[in-house]
Amino acid sequence: MSDLHQRQQDEYWMRYALSLADRASQLAEVPVGAVIVLDNKVIGEGYNRSIIDVDPCGHAEIMAIQDAAKRVNNYRVLDATIYVTLEPCSMCAGAIVHARLKRTVFGAADAKTGCVGSIMNILQHPSLNHQVDIASGVLADECSTQISRFFKARRASIKAEKKAKQALQ
Ligand SMILES: [Zn+2]
Repeated sequence: MSDLHQRQQDEYWMRYALSLADRASQLAEVPVGAVIVLDNKVIGEGYNRSIIDVDPCGHAEIMAIQDAAKRVNNYRVLDATIYVTLEPCSMCAGAIVHARLKRTVFGAADAKTGCVGSIMNILQHPSLNHQVDIASGVLADECSTQISRFFKARRASIKAEKKAKQALQ
């Protein structure tokens, strides 16, 4: 596959992941979306739902990996690529290694908790027996804007709520 073709394909699937992240923000969850693709077909998808599921493990990547494993009926999701709008955390990077995914493509970097290069790199740790190919920064601007817009709106609504409460006192 040519580099240009690969880039176009990565951007196509990242847009798909962005649309999944939108569903998370509709539920007032931090908008992160993930899709797993094999032979150009979706085999798993998910979005962050930690709060509504009361589940600290409810990240987009975990949802997508569980969905994919069920659909391929294998606890290993071999040869597949995961596209995720935000750099995976330690838990999700660990799950990506356990699932034996071939490639990880992410959009926005996460300087605080990202474990695919930001604070460490679990996907290519020399001591682990599985290494994952990485592409970063795909539609990074769109991905980070989506998240910062969400936090901005949330801060505004908290402020408005406070003001409304004060007005009642
Ligand atoms: Zn995670």
